Amino acid sequence: MIRKALIRGWNVPDAVIELEVSSLALMERMVRTGGLVLAMLLATAVSALIPIIDFIAVPLMLIATVIVGISSLNRTKVIKGGAGKCPHCDSPFRIYPRRYTLPFTDVCEHCHRQVSIVDENQSAVPLSFIANIFRYGLL
Ligand SMILES: [Zn+2]
Repeated sequence: MIRKALIRGWNVPDAVIELEVSSLALMERMVRTGGLVLAMLLATAVSALIPIIDFIAVPLMLIATVIVGISSLNRTKVIKGGAGKCPHCDSPFRIYPRRYTLPFTDVCEHCHRQVSIVDENQSAVPLSFIANIFRYGLL
């Protein structure tokens, strides 16, 4: 499914970007989660062999395995990719496969400026503006 979103820069007009969004069936999610949980359990088993650390690492990794497993099972959509144009330098902008969240930030491969990919109906206040307020302690 192709979904349109906006790519938003700093002090430049928004551009349209197309995201290829894919819904995951229950079986696909279970296979993904199974592989992830198996890898984490393997890492937990390896950490159990390290003296002293095993007292803390094993329980924490078991808890993390449960949390990651549940969040992976609940993930029903993924972004398979996307293409558009950078609002700053007008060069092609690619979105690589990632989990489905909107909005998110990315960096242009050409001009290395940060942009926000937002829903088409998102408010006009750029996310980077709000992030910069907290980053530079302007409040
Ligand atoms: Zn750019």
